[in-house]
Amino acid sequence: MSDSGHTYGFIGLGNMGGPMAANLSVFLTAVGRPPLIVFDAAGTADRAPEGAACAAGAAAVAQQADVVFLSLPDGPIVRAVAEEVAQASARRATALVDFSTVGIDAAREVDALMRAQGITYADCPVSGGRIGAQNATISLMWAGPADLLELHRPALESLAGNVFHVGERPGQGQALKLLNNFLSATITAATAEALLFGLTQDLDLKTMLDAVNVSTGGSNASREKFVRRVLPGTFDSGFDTALMAKDLQLFADSMRRAGSPEVFAGASEAVWREFLAVMPASDHMEIYKFIRDRDAGPEHRPAEDDTS
Ligand code: NAD
Repeated sequence: MSDSGHTYGFIGLGNMGGPMAANLSVFLTAVGRPPLIVFDAAGTADRAPEGAACAAGAAAVAQQADVVFLSLPDGPIVRAVAEEVAQASARRATALVDFSTVGIDAAREVDALMRAQGITYADCPVSGGRIGAQNATISLMWAGPADLLELHRPALESLAGNVFHVGERPGQGQALKLLNNFLSATITAATAEALLFGLTQDLDLKTMLDAVNVSTGGSNASREKFVRRVLPGTFDSGFDTALMAKDLQLFADSMRRAGSPEVFAGASEAVWREFLAVMPASDHMEIYKFIRDRDAGPEHRPAEDDTS
């Protein structure tokens, strides 16, 4: 099957959606397709990728595009935008693909809402961070109809390195994404704690990372995030603490409801919740500063602009 002839829309041009839409737009231009129709509530014109056409709102995207992609912060926002898409007058959109992390219940709810309006929905969260989105190396975790995925595979592969069909049931993509982010968040926090201990023993941060990264304690967090964001003191991964804390809470809630065995989830979720309360507007890699200064008392807590 091929997707020739479809017009695509993209709503949410933030840290992830911006570069994903840019890669898709390059692909559509290269293969001579209609321009990507884009919208972002914080301002579309200054976020729109080259070659894309700006729409005035979510309904306008739905009027012009057959397939609408979403990359939005959370479940309540996705639900509201999905409803705008479904209720657009003279709607052209027949499929909605959600790249956001919204949790299992929200994905099921949006699926039911879309189904009632004759729209096919795919729950398709992503992993790989802003750099992965820029380089089109992110993973897609598609839960939804396999034939819809195959129909749009060329467009999806223009913005992702790995496309996984993880199930037919919306919510399964979210389950996989949440368990991935539980692992990522827990390993990131544990790596910060471990390195901070090393500093008390007069070990050098770079030396520790060099050694750990070729030893058994190394991970994507230590090899990528700590080397690129903590060692140079930039703390600029492009993934907000609020989004990671949301993912941890969704994971812990989902696990408990499923009756799945729990050892670390509650502890990890509590650390990220406390970190968010202390540093609400931070990048998630500032977990290093939060753990470093946690027991120092409020007057020693890291300032938002502290990049030390
Ligand atoms: P972001 O906050 O950078 O981007 C979200 C965008 O949505 C913003 O530009 C915002 O203006 C726009 N928006 C908000 N409400 C809107 C509305 N009602 N209509 C239209 N646009 C609206 O977030 P992000 O980091 O790009 O993350 C997007 C999603 O991807 C989240 O669900 C997040 O959990 C997930 N995610 C993020 C990363 C990452 O590294 N940043 C990685 C994987 C998954």
